[in-house]
Amino acid sequence: MTLFNLLFRNSDLECPRCQGKAFVDWEDIRRLDKILKWTPAPCAYCLGTGKVTKEILSKVPVDYTYLTIDLPEAEMDKIKEGDEETLEKGRIHELFLDELIKYVENHHVNNKMDAESIANLYLSTEDENALFSLERENLKLYIEKIIELKRIESNQK
Ligand SMILES: [Zn+2]
Repeated sequence: MTLFNLLFRNSDLECPRCQGKAFVDWEDIRRLDKILKWTPAPCAYCLGTGKVTKEILSKVPVDYTYLTIDLPEAEMDKIKEGDEETLEKGRIHELFLDELIKYVENHHVNNKMDAESIANLYLSTEDENALFSLERENLKLYIEKIIELKRIESNQK
C-alpha cells in the first residue's frame, strides 16, 4: 500500500451515523435513539457521502442531535469545526426537546390531556425569551407524535 492510499484511507472512514448509506433511515434513528428527534433524511454527519474524516469523529459525537440536514450550511460548518458556542446551542436544543417530551408525557399520562390542550397550555406558559420554540401547528404535530409513541410503548409492555 502506498503512503497516499494510507492517508486517503484515514480520511475516508465509513460514516457511523448512516453506516455508509448516505441516508439516515428509521433503522439508524432507532439505533441511535432519536425517534422523537430525527426523521429519515440525507445524512448530515457525512453530508450524504457515506464517508467521514477522523477529524469530525473526534469533534462531534455521531449521535449529536442538533446536526441535521435542516440546518443552514454555515451552522453545520461551525459544528464540524467544533465551535464551542454552536455545540453548546445544540446541547441546549436537545435539552429543550427532552423537556418538551417529558412535559407532554406528564400531562398526557397524569392529566389525560390531548395534544391540542397540551399545546395550548405549553404556549400559554412558554418563556418568551426561550432560545427555541415551535410554532403552534408544528408543536401540535410534535405533541401528537410523542403521545402516539407513548401509546405504542405502553401497548408493548
Ligand atoms: Zn452519514
